[in-house]
Amino acid sequence: MSRIYTIANQKGGVGKTTTSINLASSLATYEKRVLLVDMDPQGNATMGSGIDKNNLESSVYDVIVGKVTPDQAIKRNTEAAIDILPANRDLTAAEVELLNLPGKENRLRHALMRVSPSYDYIIVDCPPSLSMLTVNALAACQGVIIPVQCEYYALEGLTDLLGTINRIGKVLNPNLSIVGILRTMYDPRSSLTNEVSSQLHTHFGDTVFRTTIPRNVRLAEAPSYGQPANIYDRTSRGAIAYLGLAGELIRRNKQQKNG
Ligand code: ATP
Ligand code: MG
Repeated sequence: MSRIYTIANQKGGVGKTTTSINLASSLATYEKRVLLVDMDPQGNATMGSGIDKNNLESSVYDVIVGKVTPDQAIKRNTEAAIDILPANRDLTAAEVELLNLPGKENRLRHALMRVSPSYDYIIVDCPPSLSMLTVNALAACQGVIIPVQCEYYALEGLTDLLGTINRIGKVLNPNLSIVGILRTMYDPRSSLTNEVSSQLHTHFGDTVFRTTIPRNVRLAEAPSYGQPANIYDRTSRGAIAYLGLAGELIRRNKQQKNG
């Protein structure tokens, strides 16, 4: 069975999509079978992994409303060796349509159950909101990875996110846990970065990943070529950092299994 991780933070622009794409492709370099699920109507994870969101026969929207099965909508980026369940603005309609569907919070979970035996890891990218789409992503996974940009308002809003995770853990998904807090666009020379970073350690202890993701222009450029950073420039600091994150995640999983 696969491990399903949701990348969530309702704050915009903190690196959710960059993390989703690059964690997915880095896990693939460890020869893991990986599916990247785009749950954001912006379709950034879709475009950034080389799939044209404007030219989809079916998308994750069709899957969660029950029009097609996941494998009918899944695409492949052969170079990066990852599968993608793509999204585009159709997904906006799902927010409303889901309200009238039975099991509205569990639509993605049920869909992923059909394909999860084919994957070691499923990575779900979320929109910047605590909407029904994010609720579906949190209900479908075992663990949440929270990217945090170490700046002034970083911790604000985390309380709301943790509250939502807690509530979903109680009501919908008792296995849900926070896998890790990931510091993104990290600059160790900035005193603010260090201050926020130490606050994160105080609040979350070992849940904070050791790996940090530096601010790196290659990570920002790669999506416009529809490539993960390890394909665009595998020697870049950004690509190497995400490879480190994938390694840390795999090690944590092994420790959990053995312990
Ligand atoms: P949204 O909330 O809109 O979905 P997001 O949380 O998914 O945003 P990203 O799209 O991953 O955030 O990143 C926001 C912007 O910052 C993008 O332009 C991205 O290329 C850039 N970016 C992300 N991480 C880095 C990094 N480590 N170094 C440099 N640029 C980065
Ligand atoms: Mg995004």
